Order: sequence, then structure tokens, then C-alpha cells
Amino acid sequence: MAVTNCCRSIRQNVYDRESATKPERWPLLRAKVKVTGIVQGVGFRPFIYRTAVTIGLKGYVKNRGDAGVEILLEGGEQAIKNFLEDLKEKKPPLAQIYDIITTTLEGREEYDKFTIEKSSNETELSGSVIPPDIAICNDCLRELRDPKDPRYEYFFITCTNCGPRFTIIEKLPYDRENTTMRTFPMCGFCLREYKDPLNRRFHAQTVACPQCGPKVYLTDARGKQVKHKDPVREAGKLLSEGHILAIKGYGGFHVATSTTKETPLTKLREVKHRSQKPFAIMARSLEAIKTFAIVSTKQVELLTAHTRPIVLLDKSQDYNLSDLVAPGLHNVGVMLPYTGLHYMLFDKVDDAAFVMTSANPPNQPIINDNDEALKALGKTVDYFLFHNRQIAHRCDDSVIRTHNGNVVFLRRSRGYAPAPIMLKEKAKRCVVGLGGELNNTACVLNGDKAFISQHIGDVENVETKAFLETATKHLIRLTTSKVDTIACDLHPKFTTTRLAQDLAQENVWRLVQVQHHYAHVAALMVEHNVDEILGVCCDGYGYGTDGEAWGGEILLCTTGAFGFKRVAHLENQPLIGGDLATRYPLRMAAGMLFDKADVENWLLQNKHNLPHGEEEARIILQQLKKGTGVVETTSCGRVLDAVSAVLSVCFERTYEGEPSMKLESTAMKGRDVLKLKPITRGDALDTTQMLLTIYESRDKYSKADLAYSAYAYLARGLATMAVEKALENGVKNVGFSGGVACNAILSLAMRRIVEAANLHFLVHEAIPPGDGGLSFGQTVASGFSQF
Ligand SMILES: [Zn+2]
Ligand SMILES: [Zn+2]
Ligand SMILES: [Zn+2]
Repeated sequence: MAVTNCCRSIRQNVYDRESATKPERWPLLRAKVKVTGIVQGVGFRPFIYRTAVTIGLKGYVKNRGDAGVEILLEGGEQAIKNFLEDLKEKKPPLAQIYDIITTTLEGREEYDKFTIEKSSNETELSGSVIPPDIAICNDCLRELRDPKDPRYEYFFITCTNCGPRFTIIEKLPYDRENTTMRTFPMCGFCLREYKDPLNRRFHAQTVACPQCGPKVYLTDARGKQVKHKDPVREAGKLLSEGHILAIKGYGGFHVATSTTKETPLTKLREVKHRSQKPFAIMARSLEAIKTFAIVSTKQVELLTAHTRPIVLLDKSQDYNLSDLVAPGLHNVGVMLPYTGLHYMLFDKVDDAAFVMTSANPPNQPIINDNDEALKALGKTVDYFLFHNRQIAHRCDDSVIRTHNGNVVFLRRSRGYAPAPIMLKEKAKRCVVGLGGELNNTACVLNGDKAFISQHIGDVENVETKAFLETATKHLIRLTTSKVDTIACDLHPKFTTTRLAQDLAQENVWRLVQVQHHYAHVAALMVEHNVDEILGVCCDGYGYGTDGEAWGGEILLCTTGAFGFKRVAHLENQPLIGGDLATRYPLRMAAGMLFDKADVENWLLQNKHNLPHGEEEARIILQQLKKGTGVVETTSCGRVLDAVSAVLSVCFERTYEGEPSMKLESTAMKGRDVLKLKPITRGDALDTTQMLLTIYESRDKYSKADLAYSAYAYLARGLATMAVEKALENGVKNVGFSGGVACNAILSLAMRRIVEAANLHFLVHEAIPPGDGGLSFGQTVASGFSQF
């Protein structure tokens, strides 16, 4: 028995394709072909069936318990060769092939036709995975609108090429009985299509129609059904009229309302305790988006992709939605409908868009159960639009922005998870990473693939911790990974660190703790397959190797992703009141400017921007005068917060990143009027003098110009230091990572400086620069090191 790997043909001496019409020679061959990749839930078996039948091969195809597909072929050499070529070249659009393992078999002819066999539970191959959820395809959308089609106006119309996958699958292989579609037996019509090799729904596991599929219904806030023959369009009308609805989708609930009416938006902000955090919106069409936002070609491509992420778009001059949608920001997060239900919501109304925000209470995972939704949201919403299919795995919407046409993931979740990031090399070990404390994801590194979980959220309480644990175990199972190492943050008190310790003990896995900023930079190195880098890593907070609060770091990594040296950082600044300084940027600014400017008067003038007014201002001043026992930080996020307070842009952080996001929006139309020269002391880049100059220039220049000048200074300072260190060490790459790397002004300004020095400027393309990418960094830092 000969085994060949990776798409090599089964015999080297077979004749070429042109001679395929020659009569087949005897004896016939038998071959077993195992395919790994994203090959279940993408119409792969129907494709194999049609290909084999067309070529005249006999045998079978079946799904396996390891998410792979197994094919047995009987036929002539040339026919099998042609089949293997078609397998690679004509595969369905959503399929991804990682490996084709072909084995020639001895034995006699056994099959008289080609069939799709019952799936097996075999699991010896790892690395395959089921696909993410896929937005409704054009064929289904056309049928949804066709009065002659049996699925006309069916809200959950799907086919082999579209519909939910990740969010409905409970276990492998991907068969209907292993999904939450199990409770909806197919009617005669659906079954006929399911069994018809020529039909688009041949072996489509989500096939359903108004007769046999999930049903949608409307209830009031207490769960009492509101009888209506057209509940979806009625829900759309209720939204347009100014009601608040909870709408159940594929991977969770959205809370939805009008984008133009102040009353429901104000109520929603009050009950959700979200005074400022931007709401994502769903627009009826691209044309509708263009009435309020500017859309580039790249952004059109992203908005209409089958992944259907939320894309941050600049508000246009004609922006006519309420200011309560995305207060104080220059951009707004927009997505297009991705199910039949979403499209139908807009049918009977003229609204350009509806608010569609994830329905989770603060710091809780997304709600996925009807009863849970009633309990959690009954006081928030006026109505529920439910359906009766269970959600197996919750999955929030993904969020993307672009920097000059380059994709920047703010959140990589629905549409992307659990599809892997393909690496250039195979890892030395199989690692699971648990990420950090905020914006968490988990990641499984298996060979040359890294599978990042859906967005988990902030792991600060039992619910999110439990969600992280379930999602991690599910991901390990889905990818048939044999984990031997678990990676987590260096912080001794993080919930994720403790969970990693527990799991390591329970499963006898090696535990590796990875420093936060090094994980960010290691991620960048592996993403770009480089062995050396000067990594600039800017974010809010990460536990340093010295136990201090880091967040504005320049790390030198010269031996692959095996370790780092901290070569420079931002100046240490006092965090007056610890976490309170993160919440109230005035504290940060006061700490940085203390005894350099007339801070006492300034703080007292701004006392109304502190929750406890003058009393609090005086305590802050006392602490500063005493000067002892104050924690310090090198965080870039905190410096931007301080600038934001000095310019009166934002005095309270009600959501993560708020002061710096609003500062970026303020700076959008600014210029670098101050042209500050970088000041360095030892390995530290000054931030005090920078803030002081901005403080003293408040009456001379506009907020926009001063905000821009602050970014320009930081970009110049950080990039120049990184370039110097790179040249000193003969390193060709300078990278930018961490949550602050989502900032377009800073990233683009740094790129100009680095590229002017003839060095490569590397940023994240496939994973989030923020802490959503941390689990990936932890796994690659552990999976490629040589301990
Ligand atoms: Zn479809
Ligand atoms: Zn049916
Ligand atoms: Zn970070």
C-alpha cells in the first residue's frame, strides 16, 4: 500500500489529461482519498458525488467525525487522476482544502455505483473544521422574493451555499441530527430536494421550508404571543414606529430599534446603561448606507461579503441618523442583512437602517435562549421576535475597520470563527491559548493552523468564564486537536490565568504564561512569518515582567517568536487611584501635569467632571503632593485619555477605549500644528512635556489640531525610536500591535516614518491588533518556542 500526501497523483506514470478520452485500461484501480479542510457544510459531498458520477467512477463519499471527508473510488487510472484534479480545481466556493491523502488499495471491484454514505465517527485526522455561518446567498434571496417559489417569504431560507453552520452544530460530523435542525424533520418537498443530486439543496443540512422549518413569532415584553400572520414585517413596522425589539438571529439576540427616533434610543441607552457606547446598525441596502455614510470600494467588498461583518464607516456630510447612534464619533458601525428575516424587516418601512446591537447585558456573554432572553431583556424591550430553533453556540457580529484600504479587525467572530488562520510553518506542539481578561477569545494552534474562537467578551464573572471554558472545549473537539500545552497571560490574578492552571492540572498539559505585549508582537511575527522585529505595542494595560503596568512598549525579538527584550517604552506616569484613573481621564491628566502647570486651579475648575466634585479633586491633589504609594504605568492608552481630558473631549470612560476613540474622531480634521520633537530620557519617550505643551496651547489652536498634534508626536517618537533600535540591531521589520494600533492616524503616521527609513512596517491583517488577538499570540509564542 502506497501513501502519498498533499494532492500528488496516485501514480507518477499515468498519462496526461489530453489522452483521457482513450479507452480505460484494465485492471481498474481502487483508491481511498481523505480530504481535510473546511469540507463539511459547504456542499462538498454533493460536489464529489456529481464529479464522480460525471467521470464514471464508482464508490462512495462520506463525512467523518473529524470534520474531514472520505472518498472511495473505483475506476480507471485516468478517471481517478481527472477526479483528483477536479477536486482541487472545481471545489465549491466555500470549501477550503488543507490536505488530500490518497491511498491506493488492493482488492476487487466492490461498488456498482457512486453514493453518499452515512457519516462515520472516525476521528484520526485533525485540523479540519466546520465553516462559520454564511450570509444568505443570491439564489436564496431571489427565491425569497419569488411568489412562485415554495420558500417564498420564508425567513430562514438557506441552501448548501448559505445559512448557519457554526452556531447550530453540536457535534461532528456535520449532519442534521448533530445540529439544532434535528427537531425539524424535513417535509416531502424538502426531502425530495435533499435527495436530488441536481438540486442546490442536495444534502444541505439546513434545508427547510415554511411547512417543516423553524417558525417565527412575535411576543410582548412578557412573552405573551402577539398573533400576526406576518410577524417579521410587523416587527419591522414596530421598529420603524419607535418600539424596541429583541430579535433572535443565528447566533444570539439583537436589540433593535429606529436609528432616527430619539425616544427609543434614549430609553435604550438608559436601560442598557450605555450612555455613549456606539450602537451597530443594520442598513437595508448599500444605496441606503450611502445616504448617511461614505463607502469606499474596499468597504463595499467587506459589507457585501458572505461574512457580512459590521464595518466602521465615516459619517457623511448628509448624515441624518440620530446623534444617539454613535455619539461623539466620526464613524458608525454598519452591516447589511445576512438572513432572510433581516431583509424582510425592511419590507414594509422606509427606514434606511435599524439599530442592531448585541443583546448582552454589560460584561455578560450574548444571550442565546428564549427564556433567558425574556428574563434578561423583558424590561428593556417592548416586543420579542422569537424563532423556535435553539442556538447551539452563541456568536457575536464581527467588527472591521479599514486603514487606507487595509482591513483591521476590531472583533473577529461571526462569519470568520472558527475558520483557521493559515500559518507558513507547522508548530512544534498543539497549544490552546485562553487570551487575556478583556475582549477575550480562545485559540487552538494545531500544526500550521490557528483556530480562533468567537468573541467571548470580558472574562470578569462566572458567566463569561463558563462561556470561555465551553467555547474552548468545543473548539478543541471541533478541530480534533490533541492539545499538550495551555497558554495564558502572565498576570497572576487574571481569571483566565486561574482557569489555565486548572485545565493544565486536569488534563496534564504544560502551562506557559506569556507576557501580554510579547504575545501581541509574537502574533504579528507569525502572521507575517518573520524571525526578527522591532515591535511597537501600545494598549491600555498589560502585566509586565517586572510586575508593573505596561502599555507603551518597544520590544526587540530577534530569534523568532522565542523571546523578547524590552528596549524602550513610554515614560512612566502616575495612575492616581488605580482603576479610577482609567475610568476618569482627568485623574490621569492631573497626575501627568502635576507641578508642571497650574493643575490645582484647572482640576478645581473641572471638578464637576469628577463624580465626587471638589472633595475628590482635593484628595487627588493631596495624593499627588504626597507622591508616595502611587502606581505608575507606561500605557499609551492612558496618555491618549489624558490628552482627551485636557482638550475636554471626554471626561469619563463609559466603554473601553472611549476617550481615545473620541480623540481620534476629534483629530480627523486636524493638522500637526505643534510639530513637537521627540524627547527621550534613557529608554523612555517623554509624554509629560507633550501633554504640557498641549495644555498650554489650548487657547491658541483648535481641538482638532491639538489632538492631531498629540498623535503626530507619539507616532514620531515611537516610530523613530523603533527605527533607531532596528538599525542598531540590523533588523528589517518594525511592527505595530496592541489595541491602539486600531487607530488610523497613529498607524498611518508611523508607517510613513518606518517606510521612509526603508524598513518594512508590519500590522495585523488576519487577527485583531487588540486583545481579541491575544490568544493567538499566546499560542504561537508557546507553540513555536524551543523549551
Ligand atoms: Zn443559499
Ligand atoms: Zn419543508
Ligand atoms: Zn493588549
